[in-house]
Amino acid sequence: MSEALQKASLSSVTLAPAALSEITSILSKHAVKRVFLVVDPVASAASGADTVLADALNHCEVTPFSKFQLNPKLEDVQRGIALFRDNDPEMVIALGGGTAIDLAKMIGTLAVQSNDARAIVLGHNQIQCDGPPLVAVPTTAGTGSEATHFAVVYVDGDKYSLADPTLLPDYALVDPLLTHSLPARITAATGLDAFCQAIESLWAVGATEESCEYATQAALLSIGHLVSSVQNPTPESRMAMCQASHLAGKAIDISKTTASHALSYPLTSLHGLPHGIAVALTLAPMLGFNSEVTAPDCVDPRGVDYVRRRISTIVDLLGATDVPSACKKIRSILSDTGCPASLVEAGITHPSQWEQIIRGVNAERMSNNPRRTTSDSLLRLLSESNDDQ
Ligand SMILES: [Zn+2]
Repeated sequence: MSEALQKASLSSVTLAPAALSEITSILSKHAVKRVFLVVDPVASAASGADTVLADALNHCEVTPFSKFQLNPKLEDVQRGIALFRDNDPEMVIALGGGTAIDLAKMIGTLAVQSNDARAIVLGHNQIQCDGPPLVAVPTTAGTGSEATHFAVVYVDGDKYSLADPTLLPDYALVDPLLTHSLPARITAATGLDAFCQAIESLWAVGATEESCEYATQAALLSIGHLVSSVQNPTPESRMAMCQASHLAGKAIDISKTTASHALSYPLTSLHGLPHGIAVALTLAPMLGFNSEVTAPDCVDPRGVDYVRRRISTIVDLLGATDVPSACKKIRSILSDTGCPASLVEAGITHPSQWEQIIRGVNAERMSNNPRRTTSDSLLRLLSESNDDQ
């Protein structure tokens, strides 16, 4: 982690309208001739980034990589690595949502390793050197992937998180203008991811004073602006959500995520729910669960009182006076952004579905939750979240 932080302090972040135009000076600073461009073509055209990029990359040899599915798959990474090696680029640019940025992180770094990408993702081998400079340009305000040193990848349907200091982008150009054309459903799903990452980071076992500062700001910004950015977007609400997303990314880069993210991966792979919605569906039930932490089931070494103080902070940030009203506030944010507010509303009502979700839980993320969970407690939590309308 100290290495990651060291590199984090060296990476350059521009968060402002028209930040994308900085790409020209970055290219000339590194005297780049060959660029590997991981791009979501729909996002690139809709956001208006394509014209800025076409101008900036006019004098470069560009290898575009754009045929990939939502949520990175190992096969996509491997195809990207083969294309990268054929073209020997000097810089990688990622433009799109979390998938494009995560793919670019993995392709740029894994392509220059002597060990096989699959073996590295599965944890059999280590990353040994850094790839070429990576410029991350998010077109959604959600994952904060431009601020983290990890990347999600699915191998044979199972989710893995590759973590290494070399995966942190060297440049992050966070340009709110690129989010202005986002449809409401994408603004909602991605904004919910930022909101949940901020809340989970606040109660995470891995949280530090620094991560809590980022997460507090991200939570306040998303609680204040997420609903309006969906219902009635303005340049101010778009800017606020870009800040929330980036700050939540910085927060989880230190603290990592917890139980709602652990439960979200099977919700996405089994039920096709967009990532942010899959996470948000269990955020209120997890707030209720974590608020009842006791000494025997407290995972955080700082103890029960510390965890309870963190829960009170979250209740305050949500503008609530107690845990039930804070849970209600979370559900109203989901409803007001046009998303299902419970598993029932998402059509996941059967005990066999809950059991399947629990079997697919990500153990590493779950172990970062402040209160210990068991299959039984999770089953109770998922079934009670159905009664608690
Ligand atoms: Zn997330």
